[in-house]
Amino acid sequence: MVPDENYLRPTFAEIDLEAFDRNVEAVEAMLPDGSRMIAVLKADAYGHGAVPLALRCQGRVSGFAVALLEEAEALADAGVHAPILILGPLTAPQFDRCFERGFVPGMIGPEELAVFAARARASSWQGEIHLKLDSGMGRMGFLAEDLEGAAATLGQLPGVRVAGIYTHFANASDPADPYTQRQTGRFESMLDRLRDLGVDAPLHHVANSAAIARGLIKPGDWVRAGIILYGAEPLDTGGARLSPLMRWTTRIARLKQVSAGAPIGYGCSWRAPRESRIATIPVGYADGYSRNLSNRAEVLVRGLRAPVVGRVSMDLVTIDVTEIPDAHTGDEVVLLGRQGEQEIPAEELAVLLNTISYEVLCAVGRRVPRVWIESGRRTL
Ligand SMILES: *Cc1c(COP(=O)(O)O)cnc(C)c1O
Repeated sequence: MVPDENYLRPTFAEIDLEAFDRNVEAVEAMLPDGSRMIAVLKADAYGHGAVPLALRCQGRVSGFAVALLEEAEALADAGVHAPILILGPLTAPQFDRCFERGFVPGMIGPEELAVFAARARASSWQGEIHLKLDSGMGRMGFLAEDLEGAAATLGQLPGVRVAGIYTHFANASDPADPYTQRQTGRFESMLDRLRDLGVDAPLHHVANSAAIARGLIKPGDWVRAGIILYGAEPLDTGGARLSPLMRWTTRIARLKQVSAGAPIGYGCSWRAPRESRIATIPVGYADGYSRNLSNRAEVLVRGLRAPVVGRVSMDLVTIDVTEIPDAHTGDEVVLLGRQGEQEIPAEELAVLLNTISYEVLCAVGRRVPRVWIESGRRTL
């Protein structure tokens, strides 16, 4: 529940639910016949709030994927009934909990499979798992040499059904890199080998957002859509329009005139080059607005860009609104997203921070309340 806004600092991350609907629809339109979507909601839906988005789309997608057990529990506790795949890794006690709650564990390697098998046997668990194959990402998954052992272990677990087999691309966002094709080839041959060993699954899922945008989906395969649903990253979707969901806003709390030469903030890292109007906004690095944006980023005020000046502090940021003479105390300030004709996309901050939009979005802290926007209005 969103606490009474009257008692909150005016700093929010607005999430556009209709933009999410449109993105879901756009991704569905990219899928070949028989293919369906798993919506990836790990890390609280990349900072957008997993529960409302899951409830919003659970009738349309085939299921959800999260990284952690507690992320799956948060969804189930909120009434999500679509299947939830936990990408893992998972520990022995986590498997017990996973069994109780009916989640689908993704099995990430022989050590984990052994732990899983012991727990499944101990509780006579019957249910579904997915098998993750390492086709070249090098982080998680069974390697070719692990398959025989995996098949043997699974053969001793008659109550356990391998419902899906999947792999993950390392560099699908680069169409010039032949590595993605190599990974596809390796995945196919590992599937063949598993079939020979008596392990088959009706369902395969390989494509992440970059692969979906490139159309690298075998008809009938499912896909795991993450960032594409949140409308970030410059994905070339061949015309399909995706909208960013998040608008991170605050309001001017203090506005003052300073004379030329006046220092602003910790370390006196910025000095007014002329008589200037400096606004202070109630947001800081404790909210996920990185200190590395000090003296680098821009924000939007009255539809215009204003530079961040001085150091970003824990709870405060200072901006130069000298060029925006209409700026007033209480004016909305946009840190991320659109205001009027201007937009600060997550990619813009990502470039300044030498990272990717994923990290910018995930960094927006728990201290920033999410509010849900529908038909241009806030909903609770
Ligand atoms: C995070 C993740 C995804 C989603 O990736 P995007 O690039 O956001 O689409 C898909 N599969 C796995 C295994 C992941 O960990």
